[in-house]
Amino acid sequence: MPHMDPREARLISIVVPVYNEAACLRALHARLCAVLDAEPDMRREFIFVDDGSRDASFETLAEIGRADPTVKALRFARNFGKEAAMAAGLRAAVGDIVVLMDSDLQHPPEVIPQMIARWRDGAQMVIAVRRSRATDPFSRRLLTRGFYHFFHALSEVDIPEGAGDFRLFDRRVVDAINALPERNRFMKGITSWVGFRQEEIAFEVAERAGGVSSFNMLRLLRYAFDGLSSFSMVPLRVWSFIGVLLAGLSGLYGLYLIAEALVFGVRTPGFPTIMVSMLFVSGVQLISLGVMGEYIGRIFTEVKRRPLYLVADEIGFTPAALGLTR
Ligand code: UDP
Ligand code: MG
Repeated sequence: MPHMDPREARLISIVVPVYNEAACLRALHARLCAVLDAEPDMRREFIFVDDGSRDASFETLAEIGRADPTVKALRFARNFGKEAAMAAGLRAAVGDIVVLMDSDLQHPPEVIPQMIARWRDGAQMVIAVRRSRATDPFSRRLLTRGFYHFFHALSEVDIPEGAGDFRLFDRRVVDAINALPERNRFMKGITSWVGFRQEEIAFEVAERAGGVSSFNMLRLLRYAFDGLSSFSMVPLRVWSFIGVLLAGLSGLYGLYLIAEALVFGVRTPGFPTIMVSMLFVSGVQLISLGVMGEYIGRIFTEVKRRPLYLVADEIGFTPAALGLTR
C-alpha cells in the first residue's frame, strides 16, 4: 500500500458496545453526529453491538437507524461480555480508521477530532487516557491501581494506566487485532501487544449519561484475572519457585530437628510442628492447584473453539458485508 501523506481518511467507523444503554443511545448518536459533521471530507459508519441487552437498546438503535442510514447494529443472541462485543464491532467495521468507545457518554465524542488529528500526523493508534478517576467509587479506584501495579510487574506487555477502551485505530491495526485467534480477549493487553505507532491523549471522563455501570466488583476481579492470565505466565510459574523454597526450608528444619534430637534427646512429641507444616503446605498446594485450574480452564475454552459470540439480528448491513460479522 502506498504511503499517504498527509493522510486522508475516507471512512471512519465508530464502534460502540452496548449493554442496557437505552437511556444514553440517542444522546450519544446526536453528539457523535455533531462532531463528525464538522470533519471535512469524511464519511462515517456507526457500528453498535448490542451485547444482549435486556432493555429497549436494540429497538432504540433500530429507530435511530431508520432516520440515519449510516447506523449499523448487531444484536448478540445473549450477553457475551464487552470484550466479545468490541471484537465483533472491530470485525464488522470497514473504515480506514476505527474509533472504539463506550456507549454511556463517559467517553466524550468531542475528543475524537483530536484523535483524528494525531492519526493524520502519523499515529496508528491513539489512546485516550483518562486524566482522573474522579467518577469511580473509591473501592474501584483502589482495585484498579492494584491491578495496574500487579500487571506491570508480572506481564510481558505494558498497559498505560488510565487507558480504557476509548481508542482510535488505523486500518492496519484493526486487521492485526482481527487476525488474533484467541477467545479470551483482553483488549487492553491485545492493543499493547500488537504495538504499532501509539500515542496518548488525555481526556476527562464524564459521568454516565444515564443507566448504571454493569461492572461490579466480582466482574472486575474476573476481568483482572482474565487479563493477567492472558498476558502473564508468572502466576503459573511462581509455584515451582515457592515449592523449591518450601522444600529447601523444610529440609533445613529437618536437619535442625535431627541435630536437636541428637544433642538434647527427643523432648516433645512434636505435634504442633507437624500440624503447622502440614496445614501450611496443603494450603500452598491448594492455591497452586487453583491457579493451574484457572489456566487449564482457559486452555479448555481456547481448544473448544466455540465462537466468541453469536449474532441474532442485524440492522443496516448489506448481505455481502454479513460474512464479515461472524
Ligand atoms: N458493556 C457491554 N457488555 C457488558 C457490559 C458492558 O457491551 O456485558 C458495555 C456498556 O454498554 C458500555 C461499556 O461496555 O458501553 C462500559 O460499560 P460500563 O459503563 O457499565 O462500565 P464502566 O464505565 O463502569 O467501566
Ligand atoms: Mg461507563
